[in-house]
Amino acid sequence: MPSEAPVDAMFLSTMPAGRPERRLALAFVLASTFVFLVLAPIATRPLAQVGAFIPAYEATLALNDVITATILLAQFGVLRMRGLLLLACAYLFTAALAIAHLLSFPGLLSPTGLLGAGNQTTVWLYMFWHTGFPILVIVYALTGQRRIAERASAPRAMLGAVAATLAAAAALTLLTTSGHDLLPVLLQDGHYQPMLSVVVTGIWSLCVVALLALARRRPYSVLDLWLIVVVCAWLFDIGLSAGVNAARFDLGFYAGRIYGLISASFILLVLLARNGGLYARLVAAHETQRQLAAELQRLSSTDGLTGLANRRAFDQAIDSEWRRTLRYKTPLSLLVIDVDHFKRFNDTYGHVAGDECLRRVAEAVGGKARRAGDLAARYGGEEFVVLLPHTETVDARRLAERICEAVRELRIPHAASMAADHVTVSVGVAGAVAAMRFDPKADARSANDNRTAVAPPAPATLVANADRALYAAKATGRNRACMLNDEGELDSAVDPAA
Ligand code: GH3
Ligand code: MG
Ligand code: MG
Repeated sequence: MPSEAPVDAMFLSTMPAGRPERRLALAFVLASTFVFLVLAPIATRPLAQVGAFIPAYEATLALNDVITATILLAQFGVLRMRGLLLLACAYLFTAALAIAHLLSFPGLLSPTGLLGAGNQTTVWLYMFWHTGFPILVIVYALTGQRRIAERASAPRAMLGAVAATLAAAAALTLLTTSGHDLLPVLLQDGHYQPMLSVVVTGIWSLCVVALLALARRRPYSVLDLWLIVVVCAWLFDIGLSAGVNAARFDLGFYAGRIYGLISASFILLVLLARNGGLYARLVAAHETQRQLAAELQRLSSTDGLTGLANRRAFDQAIDSEWRRTLRYKTPLSLLVIDVDHFKRFNDTYGHVAGDECLRRVAEAVGGKARRAGDLAARYGGEEFVVLLPHTETVDARRLAERICEAVRELRIPHAASMAADHVTVSVGVAGAVAAMRFDPKADARSANDNRTAVAPPAPATLVANADRALYAAKATGRNRACMLNDEGELDSAVDPAA
């Protein structure tokens, strides 16, 4: 599904393995095979019995496996792929049996091993642990990329799988301890018995089947690829430490376990190595998202034709500036600008030229409203507005005149205009001021309490007043600015024809 691609490309289980990675994996397999072939003939050479080896090896292995299982479970929580859950269980199973193996190993925590271990306990635990992993890998390989049902709860699936895995590990531990005598003898006086070859051959066969099942999963995901390397190392682990060697603490015993540790840590190392890459993608994704949000915000508040703020942005701005005026008692002015005889312009020069004319007028208007806080916007059609916080109406009118002048200076021919032979605008100016009024009727303890704020005209009234002034400018000949005084009357001091 294409919509899943971005998420899938972030996880080892779904990320396709690239050619360099396939080569690296092949190099690991070849190097492992070479080391195995070199060590196999000398695997029976006895070495010193290092007491700390088993606890150090198994504690590390169990910890690695638990961390790997946790990361895989977390990935299952996102992708809901059954295979990931199975693999997490494989690692958890390995960790649980490695701990049981460690506890029951003779001479470590007690002379005969804990958990009521007999002399076959650890060897059988080792066999079960090495059987469980390839079986779960086979099931993983056969599961494909199938996900759990839409309505199934991922946490519940995880809990169930973890409980089943731990229960299986506990049952097998019980079988190797309490049921010790039911199991065939594999180890006698520290030496391997013929039955062991049968069991090891069975496990080897399982690993080969696991390898074949994984090999069929083309194209390989990164996880599949490194699992192939892991199962190869697993084969060599069993081969050295239970196949071609002869007894505990010989060269094969040590070398096989080191293989086992490497193979157990592989997926963890790859998972951790990929984590850095994931963080980089996360940062990049956040940056893209931030830029998209900023662009979206810009687009949603910009007029497409002229690049000025749009009506939506103006409505928000006038509302917040009006509240600021109310709170800080600062003046707020508004210009409403309308292109004169623009219908005739369109009729004469066509709509494309009309659009270009609007762009140039918008540029002239925007170029005059440059103070911090000033907002020039396209109100609609061929009408523009300029919101001027902290501006008295007289100053606003001066700006209106400059805007009329700037448009005139564009010298855009307008043969059909009745106001001039080029494009002109008319401007309506209105202002709003909040004031404090002394209220003698107020029952107050201090003089301050007798003063009440007189609200400025609401935004809609301010726009309506500027419109009235614009109408006056139109009515008195266009190509000019008209202003309403604070009482909302057309300012008689202004000579509209000026
Ligand atoms: P007045 O001087 O009284 O304002 O006359 P007017 O012709 O400018 O006013 P009127 O409201 O009759 O016409 C406005 C015209 O503006 C009509 C419409 O076709 C044109 N107009 C509105 N928006 C656009 C636009 O985006 N592009 C173009 N080319 N024309 C537009
Ligand atoms: Mg108009
Ligand atoms: Mg007009």
